[in-house]
Amino acid sequence: MTNKLNLWYKGGLAFKCTGCGKCCTGAPGYVFLTEEDIETLAKHFNISNLDFLKKYTRQIGHQISLLEDPKNYDCTLLKEGKFCSAYSARPVQCRTFPFWEENLKSPKAWEELKNSCEGLTQIDAPTIAFEEIQKTLDTD
Ligand code: SF4
Ligand code: SF4
Repeated sequence: MTNKLNLWYKGGLAFKCTGCGKCCTGAPGYVFLTEEDIETLAKHFNISNLDFLKKYTRQIGHQISLLEDPKNYDCTLLKEGKFCSAYSARPVQCRTFPFWEENLKSPKAWEELKNSCEGLTQIDAPTIAFEEIQKTLDTD
């Protein structure tokens, strides 16, 4: 992504997460966890890593993902009111959203995301600088 393709957002992009929780539900998906995510989340819930893994996760191939409700695809950490019960400790995959390669590949992809993420169209959304976006991409 560090080539001409990303010049379109050189001026930065407006974004402010409202915590609406729409990106945490509605369609089948995976929230893959790093080892650090598991540590952080287990600490957040004040349980052991093993208990956290048993209670909240599933194995997908060689990876570990959070569970989701098969009825509505709610992430298992999405609680009443559709808020993340571990927002301050949320996994890197969630923290880096919406600055994922698939969303940044073109202005069109970013425009389309506005239909599902209200954080992109908040009137008071700050402009996230290009350098900041690239740093997020690097941790993805
Ligand atoms: S859909 Fe967008 S605004 Fe809503 S919680 Fe997800 S990132 Fe935040
Ligand atoms: S961990 Fe939290 S932010 Fe990430 S998908 Fe689940 S509810 Fe949403």
